[in-house]
Amino acid sequence: MFPRPFKSLPILLLACSFLPSSWSSAGAAEHGGLLLKGTPRETSWLVLESGKPGPVVLIVGGMHGNEPAGSRAAGQIMHWPIKRGKLVVLPRANATGLDAGIRYVPNSPGELRDLNRNFPKTGEKNEARGDLAREIWTLAKRFEPDWVLDLHEGSDFHQINRKSVGSSIIPTKGEGMDEAVADALRAVNRTIEDPRKKLVRLRYPVNGSLARAAHERLGAVSMILETTVKDQPLSLRIRQHRLMVHAILGRLGMSGKDVPPLAPYKADGSGPLRIAIYDAGGTGRTSARSLEVALAPMGKTLVRRIGPPEIRAGQLSRFDLVVFPGGSGSRQAAALEKTGREKVRRFVEEGGGYLGVCAGSYLAARNYDWSLKIVDGRTVDTRNGHWRRGRGTVKMELTEKGRLILGDYPEQVDVRYANGPIFAPAQDDAIEDFQALAHFRTELAENGARVGAMIDTPAILSGNLGKGRVLCISPHPESTKALHGMVRRAALWLGKGN
Ligand SMILES: [Zn+2]
Repeated sequence: MFPRPFKSLPILLLACSFLPSSWSSAGAAEHGGLLLKGTPRETSWLVLESGKPGPVVLIVGGMHGNEPAGSRAAGQIMHWPIKRGKLVVLPRANATGLDAGIRYVPNSPGELRDLNRNFPKTGEKNEARGDLAREIWTLAKRFEPDWVLDLHEGSDFHQINRKSVGSSIIPTKGEGMDEAVADALRAVNRTIEDPRKKLVRLRYPVNGSLARAAHERLGAVSMILETTVKDQPLSLRIRQHRLMVHAILGRLGMSGKDVPPLAPYKADGSGPLRIAIYDAGGTGRTSARSLEVALAPMGKTLVRRIGPPEIRAGQLSRFDLVVFPGGSGSRQAAALEKTGREKVRRFVEEGGGYLGVCAGSYLAARNYDWSLKIVDGRTVDTRNGHWRRGRGTVKMELTEKGRLILGDYPEQVDVRYANGPIFAPAQDDAIEDFQALAHFRTELAENGARVGAMIDTPAILSGNLGKGRVLCISPHPESTKALHGMVRRAALWLGKGN
């Protein structure tokens, strides 16, 4: 079913020291290299060898820097176990664009700025244009892939807005293509309830795209996979790419029955600190991202976005801690559903860490029907809209224990506050009492909130539940660069368990 015999591979060794080998299948080997090494646009590629004959599949993510889901999915897929053939993965094609969050390659002349228009065009010279496309094209020619999967995102759902290619698969032609597209559509569409948001098959990739050039010049069966950015959390879009790629690799006999988990299994406590950041229903638009930014300089961490389906499926067991960001605690609880909430609670009881920020702290509280009840704290002065005490800068002061865990901030510090919970002891005998790590020293009291209710209450608190640790932050240290160290220290402490 493949257009050409499989190619042998030049041996080039670069061990992936970051991830435990238990993640990849036995006998598999990883190696890779860098494109545009030593330049600002430097980006890494990786080859996963099964050691068994089979198709060569090139997977590319992040060609457009404002389409992060494909890049993140590719970064996970490159560590999947494969049963035969090899995967060549370039997860961050336009690395500087991804870092800047823009579609184009930064500092490129206008006619070269769209990376996915710079590959050899139909009927023109067999040459890619611009340094980055040239190196990607050289990589493609070197491995002569049988299949090319280029992971993108559109701005809107194609079925709702025909001007956008969002939520579609755009294939070329070739043996096995129809079946592969059908499998991918089936796998992803059964997870989508709204019929207008289901993915559809579209016609032929645009001129100058890698997918089209790889088909026309290298004989590859290739396609562009598109999710939709609009109103959909990153975790969902990454999941859709994972589902589609898994289905296609399954059709090629390369993947197992189940989609591989979000993070590696860690039996012995070694390896990176694995952090799951919830970003789905009830999460503020930029909340998950700003926590990611605060956690980024930690090194030796593996950060994954997570949503209710993964949590309900038990995937938290693959992580050391979960982070619930700002937004709406009750809406986060509703999105998790009862099963998801029970999974979070059990995760903590069994030794996982829980970091709640603002809404995530409401979610952890003892006193709502919908809350997780993983900390012995209840929220006060929330009725009649009093929870809307305001947004602005307040002062908080760390306690002695707070300074031990979160870092030595001896003075009162300014921190952004946005309607976070005001905590008091809930006095539930079944849960250990919480300890205050910081107190508010000034307050906001808008919309009828009780004056004086906030001052000297815990701004940050910690507690134990079973073998796990909980840390609730009412304000937003992730919004202030000078306080990012506090967030990182919290994550490290939570990762240790009791
Ligand atoms: Zn794109």
